[in-house]
Amino acid sequence: MKYAILNNGIIMPLLGFGVYGLAEGEQCVNTVKFAIEAGYRSIDTASGYDNEASVGQAIRESGVSRDEIFLTTKLGNGDQRSGGVQAAFEASLSRLGLDYVDLYITHWPCKGYYEKAWLALEKIYKSGKARAVGVSNFQPHHIEDIKKTWTIIPALNQVEMHPFLTQKPLFAFCRENNIAPQAWSPLGGNRPLQERIFASEAITRLAEKYGKSPAQIVLRWNIELGVITIPKSANPARIKENFNIFDFELTPEEAANIDALNRDERGGPDPDNFNF
Ligand code: NAD
Repeated sequence: MKYAILNNGIIMPLLGFGVYGLAEGEQCVNTVKFAIEAGYRSIDTASGYDNEASVGQAIRESGVSRDEIFLTTKLGNGDQRSGGVQAAFEASLSRLGLDYVDLYITHWPCKGYYEKAWLALEKIYKSGKARAVGVSNFQPHHIEDIKKTWTIIPALNQVEMHPFLTQKPLFAFCRENNIAPQAWSPLGGNRPLQERIFASEAITRLAEKYGKSPAQIVLRWNIELGVITIPKSANPARIKENFNIFDFELTPEEAANIDALNRDERGGPDPDNFNF
């Protein structure tokens, strides 16, 4: 495993496991336990994924000690808008059955609310119940807005990022501000976009050269860039495949060839124009 050192000194695995879409209950519990067995030590959930209870159960039943797992959850947009941030956080802890999380982040920048939400996350951080706090789906202007009143710099910014949306200017801005970059939908998220990414010549060529799958090439590219990545799969073979990326390296030129696939194409919502 390789690690990122966040701006408050805590370490976070560069490769984690996303659980969006895993159904609360047997599917989520068994899948997360399988991922932990396969070697993942970082899990990314959200109150909005409706599976926090199962994620917490899987962690407790995994046989791996709590302090070896890096657990992220997110503040839902409804709770951000209502201002009930502290209560939402406590409710997440209660569903997870944990007394702290490693990282708590705002899910989306809700216009008119995210500045206040950030100050509430700072309080949660100061209470010691989140080892780090951060944001998600922030554009530079959202960061500039919270910068006016922040006393704590977000540890990371989790945004959509894959070979067709490389986020170079945003990630450069984040790094200048000491905010770690993190990728969601690193494999493109939805099937049609993923198929086009995986069929790109820059990727198929490397897959052949290294005897790896297109998914492994893309995830390794994330690691080479120092971008924290959280691929999701419910399929045991793919969960293992996505973890098996630490026995080869791309050259800087090969990584640059993947960078060059960028076309600023989103598969998910636009952070400046979403309606949920
Ligand atoms: P992803 O890019 O991880 O792709 C997931 C899909 O790719 C899976 O459904 C699976 O069908 C397929 N897949 C996985 N491994 C594969 C492999 N080796 N070969 C072929 N296909 C494979 O997309 P995602 O789930 O959207 O994103 C990952 C995680 O990011 C989520 O689970 C969630 O934790 C997080 N996320 C966060 C936000 C946010 O707003 N902060 C939004 C979306 C997702």
